[in-house]
Amino acid sequence: MQDKELYQQLLGLKQPWRVSEVEVDFEVHKVDLWVEWPKEEQASCPECKKQHIIYDHRGERQWRHLDTMQFQTILHCRIPRVKCLEHGVKSIEVPWAGKKSQFTALFERLAIDVLLGCQNQTKAMELLKLSWYEVHHIQEKAVQRGLERRGKAKVKHLGIDEKSFLKGHRYATVVSDLDQSRVLDVAKDRKEESLSGIINKMPEEQRAKIAAVAMDMWEPYMNAVRALLPEADIVHDKFHISKHLSEAVDKVRKTENRALLKAGAEDLKGTKYLWLTNPGKWTKEQKGLFKELQDKGLKVGRAWAIKEMFSDLWGYRYEKVARNFFRKWYWWATHSRLKPIANVSKMIKRHLENILTYLKHRITNAVAEGLNSKIQQIKSAARGFRNFKNYRTAILFYCGKLDMYPQKTL
Ligand SMILES: [Zn+2]
Repeated sequence: MQDKELYQQLLGLKQPWRVSEVEVDFEVHKVDLWVEWPKEEQASCPECKKQHIIYDHRGERQWRHLDTMQFQTILHCRIPRVKCLEHGVKSIEVPWAGKKSQFTALFERLAIDVLLGCQNQTKAMELLKLSWYEVHHIQEKAVQRGLERRGKAKVKHLGIDEKSFLKGHRYATVVSDLDQSRVLDVAKDRKEESLSGIINKMPEEQRAKIAAVAMDMWEPYMNAVRALLPEADIVHDKFHISKHLSEAVDKVRKTENRALLKAGAEDLKGTKYLWLTNPGKWTKEQKGLFKELQDKGLKVGRAWAIKEMFSDLWGYRYEKVARNFFRKWYWWATHSRLKPIANVSKMIKRHLENILTYLKHRITNAVAEGLNSKIQQIKSAARGFRNFKNYRTAILFYCGKLDMYPQKTL
């Protein structure tokens, strides 16, 4: 079998496309293939698919294809143009690549798989022998295709979270689909416009089906949801509430530790994570330490108990019982003589109506939190991002569960 014929079959090129030339460079491990569409064959207009004779050819272009063995393989072609009465002079479609790509669709597919597989752009660049810009370009196009295809898919429960990005305190708003644990979009900042920009981009019929939105007690987000999703319930979920309570417990510990140290007592030294870790995840040492501290009547122990007790609220099924429970808890928290705890409990009370919505929807941003740790990994693998656009692209690429492959199969 001749080289040309072999490649014609390996590529799966259909007539009248043909391989006109094959060049193998053994020194640099490279195969160059020239593909052509014979002048005498008619071709179809890419717009209306009507057949026309070939008008002319464009200058030669090249596409990186899958390697042949360890040989980097480049496809070359002068794409023919047809002159359609209706659409003018148009380049015909080629079966191996989408418009404007410098890679064949199969290569792009491989690159997407490699990127997803190693979750690390630098490693992917090495494996694929591509530059940062090339990899980034493939990623960006993949995300764009995925977003276009996602269209009006139904989303019932949204999760809204803020995320710091870059160094310092720049924020991003991450909107996710809690039922399918995927990120839907990312916007700059954590302002009302950040969220409303994302919601406004959603098709009307998709918005109409959103039943509830889980978020922190953050006014700008609440305003955006009230204005644009008036039918949806806001749920200040257990993940966020417990974060606020944990912060209060930590404040109590810090103040108390300082006072104890001044008096020469080291009871609380090195106990920070004991109070912040879920008791279900305590190590044997932590359990022992807790027992020891429990009997000392420490303030942080009281703060911790109040925080732990609050989590009972999430177990109730009926609103009335939950309200009774909250009344008791609130009295305890506000009479604890622990200022940080009293402050958080007041904030919780102000938002109680949007906390009790949990009993109806049972959603929590814990899912989004799983995505957050994935985002964190992406951030450290990329060693930071040059700008917001790249950050958004990477998050959607890895956490968007998008259908990103190019369609062409050759
Ligand atoms: Zn046409």
